[in-house]
Amino acid sequence: MPLSKKDLKRYSRQILLQIVSKDGQEKLSNSEVVVIGLGALGGAIANNLVRAGVGKLRLVDRDVVELENLHRQVIYDESMLGEPKALAAAEFFQKVNPDINITPVVQDVNFSTIDKIIANSSIILDGTDNLETRFLINDLSVKKSIPWVYGGVVGTQGMTMNILHLPGKKTIGPCFRCLVPQIPAQGALPTCDTYGIINTIPMIIGSIQSTEAIKLILDHSAINDKLLFYDVWTHEFRALNIQKNHSCRCCVKHDFEFLNIKKRTVVTSLCSRDSVQIIPIKSAATPLQEFEKKLSKIGSLKKGKHTLELKIEGYTITLFLDGRVLIKGTSDETVAKSLYAKYIGN
Ligand SMILES: [Zn+2]
Repeated sequence: MPLSKKDLKRYSRQILLQIVSKDGQEKLSNSEVVVIGLGALGGAIANNLVRAGVGKLRLVDRDVVELENLHRQVIYDESMLGEPKALAAAEFFQKVNPDINITPVVQDVNFSTIDKIIANSSIILDGTDNLETRFLINDLSVKKSIPWVYGGVVGTQGMTMNILHLPGKKTIGPCFRCLVPQIPAQGALPTCDTYGIINTIPMIIGSIQSTEAIKLILDHSAINDKLLFYDVWTHEFRALNIQKNHSCRCCVKHDFEFLNIKKRTVVTSLCSRDSVQIIPIKSAATPLQEFEKKLSKIGSLKKGKHTLELKIEGYTITLFLDGRVLIKGTSDETVAKSLYAKYIGN
């Protein structure tokens, strides 16, 4: 589609840039991109892409807007509390730019939904909060040769890397599993909900991610091929060369474990008890003392002989010695997975 008069005015300062020009703006208008996860990172990414004029945008999130999101998730306000993030975001962005096509997707991303969620998108942007979803995205990206832009933030630090599939190139560089071969033990990594986060780092990492997406659409020669790390507090910046693992299960052997294993994490809804049980498959059970240290700052904790019970957001999350987690107060598996990702983490 050629650019309209209104487009030429709206994007005039961007078209002025030689690296974009009118041709580039048309390419942006004709592109389709998916943003998975609409928290602080995903919101920053989507905001940039909407304003830059990406023609079709799919916005995916399973959660609703909560008060504790607002200090960093800048696309939401108090009037949106309780609304699904994907719908609230789409409504907001459609006001910012009514001339592009935005599709909200309120869904959990898992092996059975990911194909439809990605649809015809040519780039996947990562705004997720857990490694399991990233491993799944990585599998799909390698299998279908769709580039994805990884991003992760916690505390004052963030990282980003492109997992690349460039046209005309048969092989790709290192994939996410070359960087992280296995999911770490349950609870081994801090999350924004257990460790905290400063509100500036997601804006920086999200801005880098969206710039890389724009480069993927406009100019492959400028694309970053390193893992970028930045600490906004200390200003430590690193650009690391990541080596391809020549025995990588995903990008070398094409064994797509996360697409193929039907459920990596066993989630059972115990409706009669208004509870959901989550059993992480490969988890080396983390000692409960570790969780005790982490969780004591964020909610009311009760220690049993073999359990640890956290009361938070009106739910009771019980951790067992064997790594099993029981979430009381909901029979909705999506809500339970979301609480698990926030407070337990993988
Ligand atoms: Zn790999």
